[in-house]
Amino acid sequence: MAVVPCFIDGKARETDERFADVNPATGTIAHEVCEADAGVVDEAVQAASRAFRGPWRLRSAAQRAALLEKVADGIDARREEFIRAEIEDTGKPVALAGVLDIPRGAQNFRAFAHQLRTLGEESFTTVVDDAVTGERSTALNLVVHEPLGVVGVICPWNLPLLLMTWKVAPALAAGNTVVVKPSEETPQTATLLGEVMKAAGVDDGVYNVVHGFGNKSAGQALVEHNDVAAITFTGESKTGSAIMRDAAPSLKRLSFELGGKNAAIVFADADVDAAVAGTLRSAFWNTGQICLCTERVYVHRSLYVDFVERLAAGAKKRVLGDPHAATTTMGPLISRTHQRKVLGYFEHTAWDPALGAGTIVTGGSAAEPPAGFAGGFWVEPTIWTDVDDRHPLVTEEIFGPCTVVLPFDDEDEAVARTNASVYGLCCAIWTRDLQRAHRVSRAVDAGLVWVNTWYLRDLRTPFGGKKRSGIGREGGRMSFDFYAEPKNICIKL
Ligand code: NAD
Repeated sequence: MAVVPCFIDGKARETDERFADVNPATGTIAHEVCEADAGVVDEAVQAASRAFRGPWRLRSAAQRAALLEKVADGIDARREEFIRAEIEDTGKPVALAGVLDIPRGAQNFRAFAHQLRTLGEESFTTVVDDAVTGERSTALNLVVHEPLGVVGVICPWNLPLLLMTWKVAPALAAGNTVVVKPSEETPQTATLLGEVMKAAGVDDGVYNVVHGFGNKSAGQALVEHNDVAAITFTGESKTGSAIMRDAAPSLKRLSFELGGKNAAIVFADADVDAAVAGTLRSAFWNTGQICLCTERVYVHRSLYVDFVERLAAGAKKRVLGDPHAATTTMGPLISRTHQRKVLGYFEHTAWDPALGAGTIVTGGSAAEPPAGFAGGFWVEPTIWTDVDDRHPLVTEEIFGPCTVVLPFDDEDEAVARTNASVYGLCCAIWTRDLQRAHRVSRAVDAGLVWVNTWYLRDLRTPFGGKKRSGIGREGGRMSFDFYAEPKNICIKL
């Protein structure tokens, strides 16, 4: 069986411990993955430390930018291989991996290379009169930005290459070196990227990959390592808490992109065709496994019945099938464990009966597997109505192809119910009223707001969540604020 190695100091690194990489569309083992224990993680950190002190730090910004652009070209050149690996690990349709995941992986490197070329530094001419002697001093104050050192990058399985490169590209652009811990569910594209880095001429040790699990495994060893200066993490909110706790003794800099329970608000004046199409995408894209996916839709009562009918009709048209077929629009969930969790919500087994069970309008169970994919982790796209606002279906992140749709009567009520969540990642607002769009965008507690669209990104803008959806922002200049440290140098003239 093919083996996915770690990638350390510019080379594939095999280990004796192995774990299985399962293809979620078939439920069969696709590869054996080399697991890194604390010793192997240390090896990767030491390689990254050497590369940081040595070649990478000495390269000019222009050289780093040029190398990152070569990495982007390298991903493009091996596009089909990346797509195949991402599909095998995640089960996502080629219609998604081919237009979103892999092209954005390359774009992340180009965007941060461009940003690096255009970054400037500040200087101030300072004149101070001494309060006691009256002596005047003139000085030049420089603000320079320096890399942090070795950055640990811990990633989830839902958009593996896209989310990993979103962090690796700015970290390297800023002059750091990295040790990446991909999700145990999706190891392949991280190792493949190591080969691309090598071929592009990125110095050995600048980009390292350690495979393994989180708690008490490679993830925790990376977080606790004393020579790792910062951890940038995307994943569940409760994992963020664990990482914060484990990083505390070594006082690491942290950036967290965490979970969500994102709302859409459809006002009476919305373009309903656009709102239905947009919500079908935001609820079911990537089988609902995007942190930005909509799991609560508040619809003005005047549109409610029609909207629910149209959304359900659209959900029924999702095509579950061979991920490599261009006609497939929805893949399986990532794992048997995740399928069980999502089905637990569908089956309403554990909830307080006083809250009721809501009404399932469409879906509600495991899906009939497509021909040839019987062992996969398939579920039906699901919509609920009549759900109490306190119900777990309304309050907890499910991370599956499902959403609740609930009516509202006025704007204040829609905003209050949107904000009644421990999460605050993103919100989609559907309205033709420009003033309302501005007012509601400001009133909702979310790091990202889309008006009459969803997941339309400009990589120069900040990305991240409020409340338990994250700490800090990455994107554009804000990524450099995280991955570099400002230093003040004052030169008396
Ligand atoms: P997860 O938190 O279970 O795992 C993410 C990564 O953390 C994995 O690599 C895992 O091995 C590692 N990990 C787990 N425990 C750890 C520990 N104690 N120490 C160090 N590392 C540890 O998340 P997941 O299930 O892979 O991804 C789904 C979650 O990610 C959802 O909650 C989703 O909302 C969130 N997410 C957020 C964003 C965002 O930008 N806000 C983007 C994508 C996904």
